[in-house]
Amino acid sequence: MRWEGNRESSNVEDMRSGGGGGFGLGGGTISIGAIVIALIGGAVLGVNPLTLLGLMTGGGGAPVQQQGPAPAPPANDQQAKFVATVLADTEDVWTDLFKQGGATYHDPKLVLFRGAVRTGCCGGQAAMGPFYCPADQKVYIDLSFYDTLKNQLGAPGDFAQAYVIAHEVGHHVQDELGITGKVDRARQNATPAQANALSVRVELQADCFAGVWANHAQKSRNILEQGDIEEAMNAAQRIGDDALQKAAGRAVVPESFTHGTSAQRQRWFSTGLQQGTVKSCDTFNTRNL
Ligand SMILES: [Zn+2]
Repeated sequence: MRWEGNRESSNVEDMRSGGGGGFGLGGGTISIGAIVIALIGGAVLGVNPLTLLGLMTGGGGAPVQQQGPAPAPPANDQQAKFVATVLADTEDVWTDLFKQGGATYHDPKLVLFRGAVRTGCCGGQAAMGPFYCPADQKVYIDLSFYDTLKNQLGAPGDFAQAYVIAHEVGHHVQDELGITGKVDRARQNATPAQANALSVRVELQADCFAGVWANHAQKSRNILEQGDIEEAMNAAQRIGDDALQKAAGRAVVPESFTHGTSAQRQRWFSTGLQQGTVKSCDTFNTRNL
């Protein structure tokens, strides 16, 4: 992928040292600030401080109380530079596409963390892999996931890494389009199997949106090198639910899928890449995923 020298986003927050901004949750400890606020709040409101602390450190979907902006990553950090450049590219593409549709795109933040992190959506753990939190509109990524992707999942390559970011940004696009809210409401009355099926459609659409980004980034900035598409397609294959279940030595159980099969993930990324339109990513109104 040709990315060096391209614009870097200023929306990257570096929480890898666990402090700086919000409540870094390094190794299962809460920052002293959270505890103090909980104790004072408890005294004033007459509730058990531990209950309040529980509310503040996870669940509830309440927005995170920031204690100040988290720092930007150091300028000489090549991996952070890569992430910031890919994020900037998604900002440019989605800003244009929203504008063309008569709407305004609001950039998400991207938080670099290590191990565990406080988010607006319960705690985030590196073991979950990168994720997007609609409550605070932030993408969270522990960069060690890229080692996992390469070494454990067999998906090396910078464009595989870019695909991961573009997929998470895809979830932000869904949020901006009001899709996330609709799906959450539908999920409330769903059986577990139905909820999983909905989740698969959400995830495949994020894959398709990653492809839409790649389509426009290529047209505008000629980012693709030989082998890049193969890297993304390989990554999509390796992180399909069936592939992951097989790799874990488990039986393949389609009802338990939450992200779609390898073939589906490849197909939807490829659809977005070829079509380059949001419309082509309507995974909710198709029989054939
Ligand atoms: Zn996802």
